[in-house]
Amino acid sequence: MNTERLNINTLNYNETVDRAADILRQGGIVAIPTETVYGLAASAYDTAALKKVFIAKGRPQDNPLIVHISDIEMLDEVAVNIPPEAYECAHLFWPGPFTMILERSQNIAKEVSAGLDTVAVRMPSDKVARDIIRASGPLAAPSANTSGSPSPTSAQHVIDDLDGKIDAVVVSGECEVGVESTVVTLVTNPVRLLRPGAVTAEQLCDIFPNLLIDNAVLANPQADEKVASPGMKYKHYAPKTETYLVEASSEDYIDFVNDINNCVAVCFEEELPKINCPKLSYGSVFDEASLAHRVFEVLRMVDELHAEKVYIHAPSKSGIGLAVYNRLIRAAAFRVVSL
Ligand code: AMP
Ligand code: MG
Repeated sequence: MNTERLNINTLNYNETVDRAADILRQGGIVAIPTETVYGLAASAYDTAALKKVFIAKGRPQDNPLIVHISDIEMLDEVAVNIPPEAYECAHLFWPGPFTMILERSQNIAKEVSAGLDTVAVRMPSDKVARDIIRASGPLAAPSANTSGSPSPTSAQHVIDDLDGKIDAVVVSGECEVGVESTVVTLVTNPVRLLRPGAVTAEQLCDIFPNLLIDNAVLANPQADEKVASPGMKYKHYAPKTETYLVEASSEDYIDFVNDINNCVAVCFEEELPKINCPKLSYGSVFDEASLAHRVFEVLRMVDELHAEKVYIHAPSKSGIGLAVYNRLIRAAAFRVVSL
């Protein structure tokens, strides 16, 4: 299949949005930019198109998709028995990197929810994404990468993984946030954080003082454990190089990597001058949002350095740092070195 490149700019904006929406309405699958990561979109009503998304990504059949809406009025189309807190969250965090799990409406295809009777819903803030959704209707869109590989934060990442496997990619800029949305389930009491993102646990605790942080956020679910968010049980974001997460002070981390042969250090930019092995910075230790913005790109670059092992300096777990930590511990298959 030829993957159409839809380069969007101010001159061709409307016709490019219309072209992407047309392909989606006709049952095609299109990678679209969002403020979190690029998403691989299909109509939430189209069973055949949704199946193509799972196939193109190699995504396990039991891992449900997030439905993306453009306007609050669309929420009633995809969810039912919506509690007042959902509207409160929508008011505070939408449009933005925030996903709510609600009771599923029978309107949408069951493939979206992979057999669950709930549905994940988000309203992205990216203007291109919202304009496409407005023209096409609700879109189910997981990250536009091959399942298991780092999520795509640029159109080039999408092309690297999915060229020839999808109908089109809307080529826009780099994703601003860089990690996937915060996922919260409102169908349990107390409300539970399933996946950390740019809307932080601290922000959510202001609204839900009893917020539970799901075990899967920081731990590896056991094989027989029933997980609230199926996506959390899969190996994710991993470079091919054997990856470790290192919990240490800057000094100890630098001494540690400088003593090892044939490794790559993924560190903070402030540490670069003191590290003697091949190294990649993923942002500033003082700015967790910079780490989120770059983390997936750096994970994609690691393998190009052909080292035996990669040691990533762990970020703090506060604010959006928790989201970065959550992705990195999965990239490292839960191999943590504590110094
Ligand atoms: P991605 O599509 O890569 O952003 O991943 C979507 C995440 O949302 C995965 O971790 C899914 O397991 C989770 N998710 C989507 N729908 C549901 C749902 N109905 N219940 C629980 N988790 C969900
Ligand atoms: Mg994903």
